[in-house]
Amino acid sequence: MADSIKALSPVMDTYKRFPINFVEGKGCYLWDENGTEFLDFTSGIATCNLGHVPENVKNAVQLQLTKLWHTSNLFHIENQEELAKKLISHSCLDQAFFCNSGAEANEAAIKLVRAHSTKNGKRPLIAAFKQSFHGRTMATVSATGQEKIRAGFEPLLDGFIHFPYNDFGALEMMKDASPSAVMLELIQGEGGVIPAKQDWIDELVKVCSEEDILIIVDEVQTGMGRTGKLFAYEHYGFEPDILTLAKGLGSGFPIGAMLAKGNVGSAFQPGSHGSTFGGNPLASAAGLATLTELTSSSVLENAIKAGEKIGALLENLKAKFPFIKSIRGKGLLIGIEIDGEAVNLIDYILQEKLLVVSAGPNVIRLLPPLNISKEEIDIFEVKFTRALERYLEA
Ligand SMILES: *Cc1c(COP(=O)(O)O)cnc(C)c1O
Repeated sequence: MADSIKALSPVMDTYKRFPINFVEGKGCYLWDENGTEFLDFTSGIATCNLGHVPENVKNAVQLQLTKLWHTSNLFHIENQEELAKKLISHSCLDQAFFCNSGAEANEAAIKLVRAHSTKNGKRPLIAAFKQSFHGRTMATVSATGQEKIRAGFEPLLDGFIHFPYNDFGALEMMKDASPSAVMLELIQGEGGVIPAKQDWIDELVKVCSEEDILIIVDEVQTGMGRTGKLFAYEHYGFEPDILTLAKGLGSGFPIGAMLAKGNVGSAFQPGSHGSTFGGNPLASAAGLATLTELTSSSVLENAIKAGEKIGALLENLKAKFPFIKSIRGKGLLIGIEIDGEAVNLIDYILQEKLLVVSAGPNVIRLLPPLNISKEEIDIFEVKFTRALERYLEA
């Protein structure tokens, strides 16, 4: 008994971690405690979209550090209002609520749909999809369509129904279920980098407008330029009613946001929802500097070009290595589906001092910073090709 207590790690055992301890980062690179350099194609899981320690975000946070950290949402927060204004001016939404993570942003969206349903006498049912990922709180686990994330946490929340993704029959079933909202990722990230098909989204949008169903897009992973546009919905030619953000919003500083159309957002009143830290001056400084960089520089164009270059080199490698089954994604959210376990290949990739992340059991996910250079892509190609060769030999 004493032994088992002694063996417990002081940090609770919720992650399977690589045995690497990073102490410094700049741009696409990370250095561990021994000074070993790694090329980072994870960006902290689609979070450090401007690379590590981006200059203008660092400066904005440093300046804010010297002025004011936190006051609570009892008071006006000027840079939070500025951030809301900027998010709204660059999207089709009208209002923002700030929180600290993706799960909290989705939690806020779920509460807003319930408030809106109550106000309008509608059934507060939310349709979601298989293989989706929406977070780890009880409501977002209930929205998530993956058994491995739900199992063991029953009873889950009522009011969610799951359908197959990219499936036209599912839209018919959804119509019959008559939900008040549908919640989806436009590219399922954790579920395996699965982009929604354009014609399926067209049909989904048509059904939702005919049946008066709200559309919530979870852009926690696809947002903030990851797909080469500020928001992924811009690729698809429709306007969501609610949009959630986190990961890339603060360049690594924790901040999340739920944006909504005015007719939906007005279901929240003072006291409906809240957060102590949400959008505090430090977090808003990070968010505002990040959004300013994304919207006033050529970084989104770079993400599109870099995505094309990486896509082309991966197609070449696919022709050479038959265990690569497909390349998919948009911009710099890229999935490489392999015949075999992703974790086995990742061992070889890691030996090349290249960092990638899996998505589902057999997909390698690439999430490089959006401002990655051509030279860094060339270095990636050398490292990745060598890892594939070694994996094949083994
Ligand atoms: C990461 C992620 C979340 C959860 O975000 P947290 O900040 O970890 O709570 C939700 N939805 C999607 C699509 C994500 O990729």
